Amino acid sequence: MAEEKTIFAKIIDGEIPSEKLYEDDQAIVIQDINPQAPTHVLIIPKSTEIPRLADANESHQALLGHLLLVAGKVSRQLGVDEAFRLVINNGAGAGQTVFHLHLHILANKGFDEGSLGREFG
Ligand code: AMP
Repeated sequence: MAEEKTIFAKIIDGEIPSEKLYEDDQAIVIQDINPQAPTHVLIIPKSTEIPRLADANESHQALLGHLLLVAGKVSRQLGVDEAFRLVINNGAGAGQTVFHLHLHILANKGFDEGSLGREFG
């Protein structure tokens, strides 16, 4: 039986709505529905084949690099390029709830010096 589609696959396929900020051939960027910071967006690859970062392999190298470039581009678009945090939750134990690789951009919130992001947890 086919795996059930993730919510992000449904967004990419236009089956459920999202507030899209950016799109190219490999990725979309949407507003997080439950923001943990004043700016909280998700960078999502269109490819559904990477559930967790730990599932990525060498064949995904260019895509992974592209996602980082998109993060930089979107941070400039949003005017947060001076201070943002990029987060990837890998695995349920780390808080991952959607098993389709995605990067969180969090910004416009005070970042505790030296913190690894517990305030978002
Ligand atoms: P994670 O916990 O790292 O797997 O992140 C999943 C993120 O997806 C959470 O921050 C959710 O708020 C967000 N999310 C879930 N459903 C939607 C949706 N329909 N549109 C936008 N963001 C969503």
